[in-house]
Formats: sequence, C-alpha cells, structure tokens
Amino acid sequence: MKRIAIIGGGISGLTLLHYLKQRFGNNVQITLYEREASVGGTIRSFKKDSCLFEWGPNGFLDNQAATLQLIDELDLSSQLIQAQAKARRRYIQVKGNLHAIPENPLSFIQTPLLPLKDKWSLITGIFKKNISTDCSIHDYISRRFSPRLATSIVDPFISGIYAGDIKHLHMASAFPKFKRNGPHKPQMHSLIGGMGQIIEAIDKRYKKHIQTGSEISSSQINADITIVATPAYAAAKIVENLNPVLADSLTQISYAPIAVAGLLFKQEAFKKKPDGFGYLIPSNENKDILGVLIESNVYMKRAREDQIMMRVMLGGAHHPSIINDSQEQIITKAIKEIDSVYGLISTPTETFVKLWPKAIPQYEINYPLWRQSIAEQCTKTPGLHLCANYLDGISFNDCVNNARTLALSASLLSA
Ligand SMILES: Cc1cc2nc3c(=O)[nH]c(=O)nc-3n(C[C@H](O)[C@H](O)[C@H](O)COP(=O)(O)OP(=O)(O)OC[C@H]3O[C@@H](n4cnc5c(N)ncnc54)[C@H](O)[C@@H]3O)c2cc1C
Repeated sequence: MKRIAIIGGGISGLTLLHYLKQRFGNNVQITLYEREASVGGTIRSFKKDSCLFEWGPNGFLDNQAATLQLIDELDLSSQLIQAQAKARRRYIQVKGNLHAIPENPLSFIQTPLLPLKDKWSLITGIFKKNISTDCSIHDYISRRFSPRLATSIVDPFISGIYAGDIKHLHMASAFPKFKRNGPHKPQMHSLIGGMGQIIEAIDKRYKKHIQTGSEISSSQINADITIVATPAYAAAKIVENLNPVLADSLTQISYAPIAVAGLLFKQEAFKKKPDGFGYLIPSNENKDILGVLIESNVYMKRAREDQIMMRVMLGGAHHPSIINDSQEQIITKAIKEIDSVYGLISTPTETFVKLWPKAIPQYEINYPLWRQSIAEQCTKTPGLHLCANYLDGISFNDCVNNARTLALSASLLSA
C-alpha cells in the first residue's frame, strides 16, 4: 500500500488530508504530522465566556467555490455567517481622523483622502491599457493612477492583507487574479463558532490519521509521497537532505510579523461609538498599528449585545520590532490606539494577545523567478510536493483551493 505523508496541519495540510481521503479512501495510507499539540496553524478561535477571539484569520470571501464546497462537505453550511450590514463602512485613519473609504463614484469625488488631481487620475487610469503588472504594487498603481492613490488608499489595504510594503510586493504575484467579479461584490463570511470550527471539523473527522506533537525533520521522511505543508523556512529544513538547492531557495522568502490584540469592552466604554468594520492606517503615518477591526460589528455572536469586541493588528513589514514587545506592551499600544480614536472611559474587561513573528509570506519583486525555480526543483525530487501559503496565494481561500487541486491532481502519484 502506498504511503502519503502530509507535514504541517494548517488549513493547507488539513484540506489535503480531506481531499486525499476523499480520493483514495483506505486504499492509500495517509498520515498528517503536526508539530504543535493541536492542528490549525494560524487558525484558532478562542471562546471565553461571552466573547470569541480569532488569533488569525477572521473570515474569507465568498468568491471562490472551493471554500464553500469544503464547508458543505464538512456539514458546516448551517454554521456559515455573513459579515453584518453594519460593518459595511470601512475607514482609513489619517492624522488621528477616520475617513470613510469611498464605496461609489460619488463618495470618491467627495472624499478628502485624495486631492482632485488624483481623483481625476482614477478616471484616466481606467482607460490606460497595457500597464505591466511585473513591478511593485506601488509602481503599478502610480503608473496607472497616481502615487498618492498608492500611498493613501492602496497601502493601508495591502497592510491589511499582507502586512507588507507596497514598494516591495510584486503586483502580478500578490494579485494574480486581479479581475472584476461581475455584479456580485464578494462578501466576507465566517462560521458562528469562528474559523476554528472548520479546523475542529476536519480534526474530528480524520483524528486517526493525524499525529500532533510530531515535528518532522529531514531524516524522518520515509513515505512514497511527501507533501510539505509547513511555512517555507520550516520546509527548508525538512527537504535539506532530499534537495539542498530547493532548501536554499525556500530560505529566501521573507515573512512579515503581526501581533494580534483582542480587547473586549463594555458598550459604554467609549466616548465615540465604534462604527463599521474598523479602520486601516497608511504606513506613512509611521505607526506600528496596522488597523483596528470591530469584530462584534463584523460578525454576530462575537460578544454580548452590551459589549464590543475589537482586534488591533500591529507590526507588519514596516515595524518588524514588534516581535520584541511583551504581551503587556502590545496591549498597552492597542488600548492607546483605541483611546486616541474613540476616547476610552473604561479599560477592557478581557484581553488576548497572539504574536506571530513570521505571520505572512511576502511575495516580493523576485517572486515569479523564485516561484519558477521552486517548481523546477520540485520536479527533480520525485515524490516530493510543497503546498502552503507561500505558494500561489496567501488567503484562506487560496490555501483551500491550492490544496484541493494538488490532492486531486493526476501528477500527485506519478512519482
Ligand atoms: C494574523 C493573521 C490574520 C489573517 N487573516 C486572514 C483573513 O482574515 N482571511 C484570509 O483569507 N487569510 C488570512 N490570513 C492568512 C491565512 O490565515 C494563512 O495564509 C493560512 O491560514 C496559512 O495556512 P497554511 O496551512 O498554509 O500554513 P500554517 O497555518 O502556517 O500551517 C503550517 C503548519 O505546519 C506546522 N509545522 C511547521 N513545521 C513543522 C514540522 N517540522 N513538522 C510538522 N509540522 C510543522 C505548523 O505548526 C503549522 O501548524 C491571516 C494570517 C494571519 C497570520
């Protein structure tokens, strides 16, 4: 009987396990090895009394069928929730003031976030054809629209997704599917019990195929097919005996750090009521806060009706020193930020912190060449596959999609 080893139990590894079991049933011996005591990687939903704290992703967009299909196959469709209408409004913070992100042409004309000249560039930019996407996000947006649009509007969005620097991230790699979605505007979704519910469902269903507390090293690989679903720096160590060139390439991708601070407040704790989805902060504001999410506005049941649950994201590529902060320092910074915008009357009743020293892989300018060399090296090592968020997309959706595609591909068993 063929043996397949999956190394790494984040959403990439767990999705692989689900589709490999679906494809091969008991005809192939499949085992997932996870270093930590529990699976999930960057995904976990903590429940404490009335509130829910996500230490990683808090949702996914409904524009990729694969995630919704996985949720359906896990019998979790009844648990799906959509972001609430009251979270529709999003803000950008400039010099301590919140400005609503324009949602339509009229609000774009009215926004103080851009001078008139840059608003005009939005119209002229739409008609500019053949602007190469083989450049940084900053260069692409500057050439097509204006440098101001890049730094004032696009930069905070990129901080919210990649925690990255728009001058270093590669346009075509960071947004490979840069296309219109038709009339349906993608909506954020999660589950009533948080994103961790997906992890728990896979864990429960395939428990006997999962070995937690198993940190796999290079010398331990002895399956017919090995799929490494760990971050790139961990994958480098795992493959170093099998393919040292590949291992060397895997060390070259950098990661941005993120600290996530969760804060639960009483409704009456604010002078100014926190409104909408929350806000993002452009990097030229020189703050080590990336943004603030008002979780209890975004999703139902994140806190009681008389409470407000918030998450403050700190660090990112512009502020790597966040990894040196203690939990107390992170909470202090988060409270100071919230106080400066909403005016705090009382302190949080509950706090949570999760620090990710290597949170998000950065798809930088050399990514296309790097990606090609990774693919070439993998073909030189039969039976070895890589599948994780540093390849072909960082979002939850991308991880599910890429893992499903690999698990069902004809080439998987061709070793
Ligand atoms: C703070 C934060 C917020 C995010 N928010 C969103 C969001 O809102 N929406 C969205 O779409 N995406 C979001 N993302 C991105 C998305 O969550 C991740 O890209 C995705 O979860 C990564 O999954 P993965 O399985 O590829 O990797 P990981 O989750 O990193 O899993 C890799 C696993 O490998 C294990 N491992 C490592 N080394 C070994 C070894 N030697 N042996 C065995 N196991 C090993 C690790 O312990 C880990 O469990 C966010 C990410 C972060 C960090």
